[in-house]
Amino acid sequence: GPVIQLSAARKLYRSGTIEFEALRGVDLAITEGEYVAIMGPSGSGKSTLMNVLGCLDTLTSGSYRLAGDDVDDLDEAELAAIRNERIGFVFQQFNLLPSLPAWRNVELPLIYGRVPAAERRERAQRALDRVGLADRYDNRPGELSGGQQQRVAVARALVGEPTLILADEPTGNLDSVSTEDVLGLFDELHELGRTIVLITHESEVAERARRVVRVRDGLLLPGHAEMAEEVRA
Ligand code: ADP
Ligand code: ADP
Repeated sequence: GPVIQLSAARKLYRSGTIEFEALRGVDLAITEGEYVAIMGPSGSGKSTLMNVLGCLDTLTSGSYRLAGDDVDDLDEAELAAIRNERIGFVFQQFNLLPSLPAWRNVELPLIYGRVPAAERRERAQRALDRVGLADRYDNRPGELSGGQQQRVAVARALVGEPTLILADEPTGNLDSVSTEDVLGLFDELHELGRTIVLITHESEVAERARRVVRVRDGLLLPGHAEMAEEVRA
């Protein structure tokens, strides 16, 4: 079955008496091994969608199934467990801990998962090898370029072998060379069969994915639905 199945997804934000519907009925199915870009202008609902897909926030109505499990009725602790076990996150700002060497940043998801220390170190180093940073295990983020820091973040996203890699504007802070670097890495991960969802407002970045889903004003633009049907068929 699909890794991601969103059905009639709605998200309503309330502040005081003001309500705003950031997702207005979104249906989206993503199959294992797909590489999908979610694209749309600022304010269209991308971050809201990312937060829902990443189990950082829940829907107001509709349903979200991740790898067949309903996540709508989970409490915060259960959501945190799902995030850690099933989702590898890559953010625009890298979100690395500056005081820790690269390999210590990469092992963090495994600490939560109670993996023994020796195995954590070995897996962190293998993940860094995978992203081309075999000679940077011990460097702190401040000693690395932006592109290298984002590769550390990709290694951290991979190390737990998650069901889904969720990248939110991963190239937003990178120059064109580092952007190419990171997108090349996603190409490789796709070839290895990982499921990748990349959120971006840049069409040159979105075009690198195998399927582009366009968001406007809290709705998916037509065109993607037939593709989702094809994938399901
Ligand atoms: P994007 O990531 O595409 O820029 P967002 O998902 O951040 O879009 O926001 C979609 C819409 O929902 C915007 O109009 C935004 O102002 C609104 N919005 C997002 N988060 C909140 C919130 N916590 N409270 C109120 N409105 C919000
Ligand atoms: P992005 O550039 O990723 O879309 P935003 O600047 O739109 O980020 O939003 C940053 C954070 O603030 C998000 O978590 C979003 O949900 C929240 N947010 C966005 N718009 C509003 C709003 N009008 N009121 C409250 N929170 C908001």
